[in-house]
Amino acid sequence: MAKDEPDIALSERSADEIKTTTCYMCACRCGIRVHLKNGRVRYIDGNRDHPVNKGVLCGKGSAGLMTHYSPSRLRAPLKRVGPRGSGEFEEISWDEALETATSWLKDVRARDPKKLAFFTGRDQSQALTGWFAQQYGTINFAAHGGFCSVNMAAAGLYTFGGSFWEFGEPDWDHTRYFMLFGVAEDHASNPIKTALGKLKQRGVKFVAVNPIRTGYGAIADEWIGIRPGTDGLFVGALIHELMRTQRVDLDYLARYTNAHWLVVDSPDAADDGLFARNAEGKPLAFDKTTGALTDATRTDIAPAMTGTFTLADGRQVRPSFALIAERFLTDEYAPDTVAVATAVPADTIRRIARELAHAAFEETVTLDIPWTDHTGRRHEKTVGRPVSMHAMRGISAHSNGFHTCRMIHLLQIVLGSIDCPGGFRYKAPFPKPIPPPNKPARATEPGAPLKGGPLGFPQGPEDLLVEPNGAPQRIDKAYSWDAPIAAHGLMHMVITNAATSDPYPVDVLFMYMANMSWNSSMNIPAILKHLTATDAETGEYKIPKIIYSDAYSSEMVAYADLILPDTTYLERWDCISLLDRPISGPGGPADAIRQPVVAPDRNVRAFQSVLLDLGARLGLPGFVTETGTPRYPGGYADYIVNHERSPGVGSLAGFRGQDGKSYGRGAPNPNQLESYIAGGCFHEYHLAPEQLYYKHANKAYLEWAKDVGFMGAATPITFQLYLESLQKFRLAARGHGAVTAPASHRERVDKFFDPIPFWYPPLDNAPGDDTGFPFSAITQRPMHMYHSWGSHNGWLRQITAENCLYMNRERAEALGISDDDWVWIKSAIGRVKGRVRLMEGVNPDTVWTWNAIGRRAGAAGLTPDAPEAVRGFLLNHLITELLPEREGGYRFSNSDPVTGQAAWYDLRVHIEKVAPAEAGETAPQFEPIKSPALAEVEIAR
Ligand code: SF4
Repeated sequence: MAKDEPDIALSERSADEIKTTTCYMCACRCGIRVHLKNGRVRYIDGNRDHPVNKGVLCGKGSAGLMTHYSPSRLRAPLKRVGPRGSGEFEEISWDEALETATSWLKDVRARDPKKLAFFTGRDQSQALTGWFAQQYGTINFAAHGGFCSVNMAAAGLYTFGGSFWEFGEPDWDHTRYFMLFGVAEDHASNPIKTALGKLKQRGVKFVAVNPIRTGYGAIADEWIGIRPGTDGLFVGALIHELMRTQRVDLDYLARYTNAHWLVVDSPDAADDGLFARNAEGKPLAFDKTTGALTDATRTDIAPAMTGTFTLADGRQVRPSFALIAERFLTDEYAPDTVAVATAVPADTIRRIARELAHAAFEETVTLDIPWTDHTGRRHEKTVGRPVSMHAMRGISAHSNGFHTCRMIHLLQIVLGSIDCPGGFRYKAPFPKPIPPPNKPARATEPGAPLKGGPLGFPQGPEDLLVEPNGAPQRIDKAYSWDAPIAAHGLMHMVITNAATSDPYPVDVLFMYMANMSWNSSMNIPAILKHLTATDAETGEYKIPKIIYSDAYSSEMVAYADLILPDTTYLERWDCISLLDRPISGPGGPADAIRQPVVAPDRNVRAFQSVLLDLGARLGLPGFVTETGTPRYPGGYADYIVNHERSPGVGSLAGFRGQDGKSYGRGAPNPNQLESYIAGGCFHEYHLAPEQLYYKHANKAYLEWAKDVGFMGAATPITFQLYLESLQKFRLAARGHGAVTAPASHRERVDKFFDPIPFWYPPLDNAPGDDTGFPFSAITQRPMHMYHSWGSHNGWLRQITAENCLYMNRERAEALGISDDDWVWIKSAIGRVKGRVRLMEGVNPDTVWTWNAIGRRAGAAGLTPDAPEAVRGFLLNHLITELLPEREGGYRFSNSDPVTGQAAWYDLRVHIEKVAPAEAGETAPQFEPIKSPALAEVEIAR
């Protein structure tokens, strides 16, 4: 020690090494730094250079350490030796596990590949898992999107080629008015928190539309405590007001949308409601300057937005805007009409419409950024309408969610706030053509791959996966007349449909990271019966073989026959790819990796590497070389670097080419992962200033997007306010075209495939129905938990280990219910017991709870007397998976009729106090699960 140096006892260094990687404690994919000492994880903090979080780390992220060292970790491959659900397993070697899986899968592939149902949960490797399904040849593949937010994604992609979250976000730096619809704090976490901080600093008005005033709503300037499922009425009324007061930018609509395209008006004809087109197939408009019909895509015309015109063959046509205005200007969407149903006062709706218009039209933002549009016109400044919105599952998870999401986008578009300063901004690779060009691949012969990906975007009835009689081809009935635009599949229906052979049985159910026997399914008692149901004659399980991969001992593990134990997110390579759901920002595309910061200390393997191994053992094309040896012997890291989806395009866009200097396209670079690690495990491409805004019509951006492979052609993207694809389904429901809807589905398709967005009551127990279930029951998730992932995390459990039913204080007291009372929550299919907490910030007709806190006794390594099992409860038990039987006995799934999105939030319940002797413990209680032997937890010192 130097002579003058103070004698301070510095604390021991907590780490001898720091490695960067990507967080996986929720879906935000923040950059993290993992501090290691003696090869053990000691501490996690945020990576300040990372584009997603810029160093910010949330409670979940820092608690990742306890998920990594969770007592719930599986430790070896397992084979079931007791009855399903008993939890009796035997540890086996990886060779035996992989040989077993291969023999099951090989047999199915040779006979009938669709008898493999391969579904994954919230994994972040869908570019790989989807490719496995494609090369295997099964059409029965999807990830969790169908029970999460496919309504949001599909409505956006079919309307303006983008959506919220991974697809786009508000221009947080310039917006002057922000509306947030139905967003849960766990899901849209650090990026939204930091963004809201920016809005607060600038004094931007923030309006939260949510039946519950939780997290984000608590800091909103205005909270709209709307009734669940009525957001479409509220948004429709805002559009009504903007149209009524003529606060709509018609020039913008003519420039960027199909508002002026002429729609054929020939009731009963095969072309009714389709766009009138010229001989070249171009849509027609009426040019007010020349007084003639012309190509609507011309930019040198003054198109009519109203009126009726006559084509040369005598057909009557009207601009689509006229039809849209007619819909929204009716009294049905007048504020005074919707006020009662929405619980939003008419004056509030009128004021918010005025505020939106004021921000959009009187507070325009002008940036000193010259740009050139797709016609070659030079703009010396970039001018924007600074109104922005964000919406998520609260809007999406209703059976009317698709049209409601379309309405939110319509609202943004009539205000002219798409990809402009202060408005919504796309994140590359979006915008995409509308609808995206990939369609769901059809089944091929056994033993052959599909000719494309199993998921896609139908453009009309001819793209459906149905038999000649209209019956569904997929196990989940996606892309059938039940859910024609099911772009993410219907994972929530797979177990029910497979067990009831509706439309057929499967041989192998293969799932990854999806807790389908608990918080990821509806009607859990029924699901448990399906998973254990046997054939009366053979005694075999109706779902004969279940393979499941997870890192932790979830409720689903007990119901599988073969367990392939996964690593934690700190033990594996991973890829957050532009081929899947990247981490791009509005300023440019970005992707990322996870690197194994520590080696697994158990007999577990990364699922992605296991899948590549299985593909090679099965000899799937692309998974093996010409000589039949594994193409990616180095596992997922090998695949990430060397797999090319199309020539020069692979999992990662950065550091491509042999020299690592190419972006987007380029040969595989053997040093690519090293380059990513050196840069903090991410790569960010910065668009030039002239490419930053109006990407849907920006010449420099569109040409660049084509060059790097984001788009097939540098053509502008025209927003589809009027969605002709939907009308094609509707015409098929009216008996027109080569593929028509079966009689049993016609009325439903005709109603819901309206090319103009509209509101209809949720299909199961609409609010206001006199069904005896006066409350809507919905869930939120606390900021510190993500789905059920947090309940085996020793730190996060200390914050929330049990959930309550939250009720509006006044409403509860009128029913004689007080704080801490135990109540029965009853729906049409069952009842659940929970403890009540009263609050003011909730719509009076709504009750809610934290989702996925309640766990089944014994699951997740918890003791049977854990609060999660004794007092925590799930609303899932109360949500029907099937709508009531209709004439003929058929039952549609409890989903959006357009996209198949699970309608979790349509639940309606009745609340009553329990008898005094019933208080203190939740019900129903299921038999405790016997957990397999789990990994030892060695506490780091
Ligand atoms: S928000 Fe939190 S949990 Fe989610 S990725 Fe970021 S740090 Fe991790």
